[in-house]
Amino acid sequence: MIIKPKVRGFVCITAHPTGCEAHVQEQINYIKKQGKTQNGPKKVLVIGGSTGYGLASRIAATFGYGADTLGVFFERPANNGRPASAGWYNTAAFEKAARAEGYYAKSVNGDAFTDEIKQKTITRIKEDLGKVDLVIYSLAAPRRTDPKTGEVYKSTLKPIGQTFDNKTVDTDKKIIHDIHLDPANQEEIEATRKVMGGEDWELWIQALQEADVLSEGAQTIAYSYIGPKVTYPIYYQGTIGKAKEDLERANKAINKALAPLSGKAYISVNKVVVTQASSAIPVVPLYTSLVFKVMKEQGLHEDCIEQIHRLFTTQLFASKTPTLDEAGRIRIDDWEMRPEVQDAVANLWPQVTTESLYTLSDFAGYQANFLKLFGFGIEGINYDEDVAIDIPIDALTE
Ligand code: NAD
Repeated sequence: MIIKPKVRGFVCITAHPTGCEAHVQEQINYIKKQGKTQNGPKKVLVIGGSTGYGLASRIAATFGYGADTLGVFFERPANNGRPASAGWYNTAAFEKAARAEGYYAKSVNGDAFTDEIKQKTITRIKEDLGKVDLVIYSLAAPRRTDPKTGEVYKSTLKPIGQTFDNKTVDTDKKIIHDIHLDPANQEEIEATRKVMGGEDWELWIQALQEADVLSEGAQTIAYSYIGPKVTYPIYYQGTIGKAKEDLERANKAINKALAPLSGKAYISVNKVVVTQASSAIPVVPLYTSLVFKVMKEQGLHEDCIEQIHRLFTTQLFASKTPTLDEAGRIRIDDWEMRPEVQDAVANLWPQVTTESLYTLSDFAGYQANFLKLFGFGIEGINYDEDVAIDIPIDALTE
């Protein structure tokens, strides 16, 4: 099949298998270039491990530390002549590359919020790995069914207690326009906490601990974001920020629960990157385009793989214990939050218009990055060539 990008709003409904493979390989090459370290994770569970920060974590664990990995995610196989999702093709490419070098790489494909998928994952750990020493929690989901009550919660991206008026970029039409967002009601705040807060992270660790599949000294880490003042009303102080606050509550609770194992739970605040999850947040794509321009000019630009490599080598698996901020979080967004970066973005923010989108911001870089998530726009790939879409992965399903 000849596959071209089909972008609908902030999603691309097609993905290119060879392009996704090249994108995964590029990340593997980056990690290999940095060199392998012995002192690090060896058996890793990555929840949300098919795209974005989770996939980068899986790659960094295997090719940076020689770790065997089990990935959990929710991806769509090819069917009825439709290509599979990008995360499916990424996983096929990752499994192939990992196995070629003798590493274990298998997966569980299904809704990670369910008890069934947790149990399937535990079975696979028991059969294949025995125990895991690192659990990465990198889910970004729009909805969650509470496994106890069956109630479905949908997350929203809204301000709290105030309306929010600012500008944003329509990434499809390539125009800057004003945006007005009404505040969330209590139900929406709570629903977002149920989906993107810490409850499911706690349930995972509880299930893994009860099944005795966590090694002595096991670590777990979940990812968070804070960002600049301009997105505070929609992010840090909005519904998603409240959910991330709940992640911090869960972090403390998990730390207590892991104490008998001498285990540790961490939250890492990562920098903004283009992923399927972040492209859906209003205002964030415009900020991302501006901060990319500034950070590239200052030689500070990083994507998922560079961030996770820095997180692992300078914090999580460095010879010293991780440095935490006043709220107990690892800050790998430190370069993004540098005053010289933030001041430059704040200076550009009022100036940027539709006409100056490509000169004052790195919107071109944003778009290229977005297409790359789905395996498009990658040099050396012939997109007019017929490619097989039905590529297997080694995953248990629901
Ligand atoms: P992403 O969209 O690239 O990845 C989401 C992952 O979750 C995928 O593997 C997907 O298959 C999986 N998933 C979604 N719903 C699922 C379900 N019901 N069951 C099983 N798997 C499911 O997202 P990302 O941007 O890498 O986000 C991962 C984490 O990193 C999030 O907590 C996010 O808040 C955080 N983060 C993101 C950014 C950013 O700029 N993208 C910055 C800082 C922190």
